[in-house]
Amino acid sequence: MTILLDGKKLSAEIKLEIAAEVKQLIAAGKKVPHLAAVLVGNNGASETYVASKAKNCEEVGFMSSLIRLDEGISETALLGKIDELNSNADIDGFIVQLPLPKHIVVQKIMEAIDPKKDVDGFHPVNAGRLLQNLPCYIPATPYGIMIMLERYKIETAGKHCVIIGRSNIVGMPMSVLMSRNGYPGNCTVTLCHSKTNNLAEVVRSADIVIAALGSPKFVTVDMVKDGAVVIDVGITRIESKDTKSGFKICGDVDFENVAPKCSYISPVPGGVGLMTIVGLLKNTLNAASR
Ligand code: NAP
Repeated sequence: MTILLDGKKLSAEIKLEIAAEVKQLIAAGKKVPHLAAVLVGNNGASETYVASKAKNCEEVGFMSSLIRLDEGISETALLGKIDELNSNADIDGFIVQLPLPKHIVVQKIMEAIDPKKDVDGFHPVNAGRLLQNLPCYIPATPYGIMIMLERYKIETAGKHCVIIGRSNIVGMPMSVLMSRNGYPGNCTVTLCHSKTNNLAEVVRSADIVIAALGSPKFVTVDMVKDGAVVIDVGITRIESKDTKSGFKICGDVDFENVAPKCSYISPVPGGVGLMTIVGLLKNTLNAASR
């Protein structure tokens, strides 16, 4: 029997828990957690992500602010804005929505964020602390996946976990988390990328597959062993005749054919995406509780 890793149900449950914690903070005379988002330009997808983050903040009782900046803002002016947010005591954590315009060096911006307010967990200090298993902000998507594994009580110790994709925001931190000594963790991890040889064979040997490459339906039924746990991180907008907008979201796994073979599988949409929001909210709550 295949169990669906239901991000919709789980994220709703966890948001209720976060909302209860916020009430307790307020009852104890503490401040309301406050997340700010910086949005440069008006990229449609970024607008949607930022609006969703604000809506989720409202749902759990956080304050949220949106700092809208012109597409043509200079790197220096953006760095100035980040300095302001770093020193604004009312803001517990903030994110700079990616992508940024081409004239801005993303790494410079990420490194300018105070690591204590870096609730996206992208600052090298947080990445380094993650590597050494020290308290840090874990990037929201890997954090959300860890919570999902934990809440569904999925066994991980001694399992072979194959991760496809080695980005700094998903695959790489995921590989660190799954290999560390703890639960979820204690896996033997293989981190795959575009230069991996015999990828299908490697994936076939996995007890846990985490697909994060951004290639629709890349993981096919012949690549998955019976009873595997499959987590689909991919989000690609593809054309569709079935929706009003003419587009739909597609994951990296051929869900329809792969699902019957799995012990657990996460759908797209309704899986990891919603858990990513949970990861961000949890990081913000931690920032406010510090
Ligand atoms: P990314 O920075 O583009 O990295 C993609 C990774 O996949 C790279 O390491 C690349 O290898 C590898 N790759 C690409 N094609 C491959 C192939 N044919 N075989 C093996 N490896 C391949 O992507 P990302 O930011 O990690 O995002 C990955 C996907 O997750 C995207 O669809 C993105 O939209 C989605 N995403 C979803 C969430 C969520 O909340 N659900 C959050 C973040 C991202 P190389 O390093 O060799 O180039």
